[in-house]
Amino acid sequence: MMEVRRQIEVSGIVQGVGFRPYVYRLATGRHLSGTIRNTAAGVTIEIQGPAESVQDFVEHLPAEAPPLARITSVAVHDVPCNGDQEFCIVHSHEGEEVRTLISPDVAICSDCLREMFDPADRRYRYPFINCTNCGPRFTIIRDIPYDRPSTSMAMFPMCPACLAEYENPLDRRFHAQPNACWKCGPRVELWDKSGKRIECRDPIAEAVSGLHAGLVVAVKGLGGFHLAVDATNRAAVALLRQRKRRVEKPFAVMVPDAQAAAEICEVDVAARTVLESIQRPIVLLPKKTPNVIPDHVAPFNRYLGIFLPYTPLHYLLLAEGGFKALVMTSGNLSEEPIAIDNREAIHRLSGLADYFLVHNRDILLRSDDSVVRVAGGITRQLRRSRGFVPVPVFLKDEQPSVLAVGGELKNTICLTKGKHAFLSQHVGDLENVESFSFFHEAIEHLQRILEIRPEIVAYDLHPDYFSTKWALQQTGVRLVGVQHHHAHIASCMAENHLEGRVIGFALDGTGYGTDGNIWGGEVLITGYEDFVRAAHFENVPLPGGAAAIREPWRMAVSYLAYHFGREFLRLSIPFVRRLDRSKVELLLRMMEQGVNSPLTSSCGRLFDAVAALIGIRQQVNYEAQAAIELEMAMGSPERASSREDAPYPMKLVPEDDRWIISTQPLFAALLDDLGRNVPAGTISRRFHNGLVEGFVELATLLRKKTSLNRVCLSGGTFHNVYLSQRLEAGLAEAGFEVFTQKEVPSGDGGLSLGQALVAAANGI
Ligand code: ZN
Ligand code: ZN
Ligand code: FE
Repeated sequence: MMEVRRQIEVSGIVQGVGFRPYVYRLATGRHLSGTIRNTAAGVTIEIQGPAESVQDFVEHLPAEAPPLARITSVAVHDVPCNGDQEFCIVHSHEGEEVRTLISPDVAICSDCLREMFDPADRRYRYPFINCTNCGPRFTIIRDIPYDRPSTSMAMFPMCPACLAEYENPLDRRFHAQPNACWKCGPRVELWDKSGKRIECRDPIAEAVSGLHAGLVVAVKGLGGFHLAVDATNRAAVALLRQRKRRVEKPFAVMVPDAQAAAEICEVDVAARTVLESIQRPIVLLPKKTPNVIPDHVAPFNRYLGIFLPYTPLHYLLLAEGGFKALVMTSGNLSEEPIAIDNREAIHRLSGLADYFLVHNRDILLRSDDSVVRVAGGITRQLRRSRGFVPVPVFLKDEQPSVLAVGGELKNTICLTKGKHAFLSQHVGDLENVESFSFFHEAIEHLQRILEIRPEIVAYDLHPDYFSTKWALQQTGVRLVGVQHHHAHIASCMAENHLEGRVIGFALDGTGYGTDGNIWGGEVLITGYEDFVRAAHFENVPLPGGAAAIREPWRMAVSYLAYHFGREFLRLSIPFVRRLDRSKVELLLRMMEQGVNSPLTSSCGRLFDAVAALIGIRQQVNYEAQAAIELEMAMGSPERASSREDAPYPMKLVPEDDRWIISTQPLFAALLDDLGRNVPAGTISRRFHNGLVEGFVELATLLRKKTSLNRVCLSGGTFHNVYLSQRLEAGLAEAGFEVFTQKEVPSGDGGLSLGQALVAAANGI
């Protein structure tokens, strides 16, 4: 039988996922000889033996790969045979250029979980148990290639038992870089709020008693600290709200398993799959009533953010305490980034937590929990972070290396290389020093571990954004400014592998327009290179600028004055009756004189105005609160639309080469309903239905004009399930091909992807 030797180069996520032991078993099972080693590009295998067995090996290689592996390419070459007698695993070399993909952090697997709760196992109750199929990855990597010395496990030399597992190719822990046990690995300690270690036999049991007593415990997790309280304890939840200065923004809760989730929320098959997935995101699910979880965990909201434990420590806490649910919210003060270091946590969180459950395995990179929504069987990212990062978004075409720095709120950055777009974890709102240094960290770390040196830097046109100011200081790269809503639509196009031009509905709260106004209700005819503003909502004043975003009643006044003049003050509706006349007078004068009243076509502000008018919310405590509560006012989105829910009319007014979407008839009809005491839920449905009908009509007009039949929907407004589902259905019914965002958030968390693609198309 003729011997052959082949070299196989495999790229994708093939390091730190049990790929080498898998290949070892595949080779030795066929009595083949050769080598495998991690390279900067992925893994390189040399395989030698009878031609037929080698062929069989090559064919099986991708098919039976381990669960966490993601192979993107396999290249096979013939090489000369040598004297190899057996198959062995060769240690990593320093790589030239790095093209390998790094695994994200993975929730504890069922094998490890079973061992942890087995009193006979040597890792019984060990809070850092892991194997090649599970455990931390991205958050403990300092550099590549992914080997123990380049991780925060470097400081823990393995004991003989762990080392034996690590070196045995047939063991589940073969080359599991974070492998550890009670003898040699990281340990948990309980600290008081001054950072003093509390002497106790069992820190976890001690933390549990604190939680039972209604105290706040800071718990070090995978990507940062959480603040935990017993979610069924009203007083504890209130205490946490007060200390965190978080008035009404919902908290997420961690429950022991999917069954426990189903006791407090509606969990269908799709939702259960996502809850139990290895990424373990927070999943927004409809609350059940009555509920053991007090309402002020997520007030004025029909949904609750639920997630399952993902570290061994989480499982121990929940099991030990017998908790139905724990509030687990990011360890930070309001919008600052999540704390990761023990001392940093004490420093920043000592006013928030009573105890700190810490450990000595360093988190090298912070990564917040991801948030998804499952609706109509489809999972959509609202915040793409832990568990997903740094898996790239796979693009249709090769791209130059671009760094896109994102927007201001819910910031992420994006790096492109080849056909990969790497979005960073959630960086957050760039409005404080901590966030801004995290922004730097995220850029530097991603550039280092992905070895990307960008030729182009893409930024938002808003001159006051921190990210924009940073970008404009960069030298030796080409700088490309990208309009906010153009980036939203490009993000949707990129994710859906679209080329050419599309009709894009970009609906959100705020984005800087090319005319200096604040845009946000935009219909664009666009490709990656450029866009035409084909239609938008009328420009109304934003009285007081940022104050109008915090106080939706100002937008209601703005719209009413815009459409009806001072006449509206004579209306006999509760909104007008409750207005503070002197404040209104001031506001009207401000707008009339154009003082501190920038113009906006924002869709988010339109939602705010309607929410305020019908008495749902006059002031907000977190971003998009009024719009969310307006959506919630409708009740279940599944409720069939009845005759009384007839859409409010909108008017399309031609102006120059575009359509202005006038909401004048919409407000007239709405005021009429208010005068007749029509319930808020009905008004909200009529409003939503009106938008859907108006947008479908507009798309149809634009199709006539441009012959384009593909519609992309993006922008934060599409986090609204009712609007998204109705508009998608309405457009599909009218014969359009509709594309939406799933893998990447449609809100500003997905902006950087679009910026990168637009800049790439313009950067050459
Ligand atoms: Zn495992
Ligand atoms: Zn050990
Ligand atoms: Fe936006």
